[in-house]
Amino acid sequence: MAEMEKTTDRRSFLRDGARVAGAIAFAGSAGFVAGRRGRGDDLVWQLDPDKCTACGNCATHCVLDMSAVKCVNCFDMCGYCDICTGYFEAGYSVTDTAAENQMCPTGAVVRKFIEEKTGQRFYEYTIDRPLCIGCGKCVKGCALMNGSMYLQVEHDRCLNCNECTIATACPTQAFYRIPAEQKEILKRGGARAMESRGHKMLREAGDDEAERQEANQLMARAETQLAWRAEQDRREGNRAQG
Ligand code: SF4
Ligand code: SF4
Ligand code: SF4
Repeated sequence: MAEMEKTTDRRSFLRDGARVAGAIAFAGSAGFVAGRRGRGDDLVWQLDPDKCTACGNCATHCVLDMSAVKCVNCFDMCGYCDICTGYFEAGYSVTDTAAENQMCPTGAVVRKFIEEKTGQRFYEYTIDRPLCIGCGKCVKGCALMNGSMYLQVEHDRCLNCNECTIATACPTQAFYRIPAEQKEILKRGGARAMESRGHKMLREAGDDEAERQEANQLMARAETQLAWRAEQDRREGNRAQG
């Protein structure tokens, strides 16, 4: 998944010369659910990043010693910022990768130079997921800018407990049971950006069948997400009306 994050997005970034490009780290690969506990479940726990306030409970309330919740960076929303508020600790001394300047307590956010354009430097931020403890510090920091970093349950580690102890502790009721094949919950803005990128790719694909397929996959993924959100909006609207 991390590989798809890097290769897809850097290519798009460089091809478009645009600052908004790419796909979420939890790309829909078969490996995403390959490690599930084989109980034949068709529902899995996932959290809605639009509801999450990065309160810290995801790091401390999972039954696993190291939480199954990890950070992802959605490239469709990322600004590839030089001064990344999800990467640099408030009060950093210089914009370098020294540990004391980093927000992440485990050094899990990886900063890589991409290019310089019209005097601005752009960097790609990826998550070294085995290092991530799901503390949400980068998520809070990134929320000050584009909000492209957020938390998701990693299904190849999650035990898919009947009662997720984080869901019980979550102050914003951000946890849902979703279809296993859906895997992820994108931010609403990320799903819309992904849909637009898919349309753009398709327009530019010409006869390139691989590009057309990739574009169609992106649009289908975005469509699944937007349909899920529409259904949640409908249910929550119904509940509000009593
Ligand atoms: S959630 Fe915490 S541990 Fe994970 S990348 Fe962000 S700051 Fe680092
Ligand atoms: S379902 Fe269990 S293993 Fe998965 S995130 Fe919740 S508490 Fe952790
Ligand atoms: S418990 Fe809820 S609000 Fe807190 S970090 Fe997890 S999903 Fe976000």
